[in-house]
Amino acid sequence: MAIERTLSIIKPDATRRNLTGKINARFEDAGLRIIGQRRVRLSREQAEAFYAVHRARPFFNDLCSFMVSGPVVVQVLEGENAVAKNREIMGATDPAKAAPGTIRKDFAESIEANSAHGSDSLDNAKQEIAFFFSGLDIVP
Ligand code: ATP
Ligand code: MG
Repeated sequence: MAIERTLSIIKPDATRRNLTGKINARFEDAGLRIIGQRRVRLSREQAEAFYAVHRARPFFNDLCSFMVSGPVVVQVLEGENAVAKNREIMGATDPAKAAPGTIRKDFAESIEANSAHGSDSLDNAKQEIAFFFSGLDIVP
């Protein structure tokens, strides 16, 4: 297995309920290291650009409104198999289908307000990390 980096976002439903530390503990307990982190309020333009791949989906507008509804924490996670491991820790998109002990099962409010984002491939991880972080902000 290779050491990878992936982009994680703690979503507005989770920052609103003060869950940043609890969610970060899930990553760290599973062996992922938070090597870059910033709390930001996304602009509509940033949210739309970040989720551009979903532009044609019926939930796109609602999703973007949700993502700008409060602060998010953008972060770079590093570790063995980080892309897949992070998605395992998050659980299925729909909390009703997420496995016990996952972030989304334990914390998500709905399929939209599902507490965390994680890159879905190594290629997308590279693009998504570059979207939010310059090299200087990543400290392994
Ligand atoms: P993410 O990309 O945020 O890590 P994901 O890869 O599990 O989540 P995607 O299919 O990429 O799921 O969807 C992106 C986000 O869009 C979801 O996390 C969720 O917030 C929202 N979303 C997905 N499907 C729906 C839906 N059917 N209704 C409302 N919102 C949805
Ligand atoms: Mg996705």
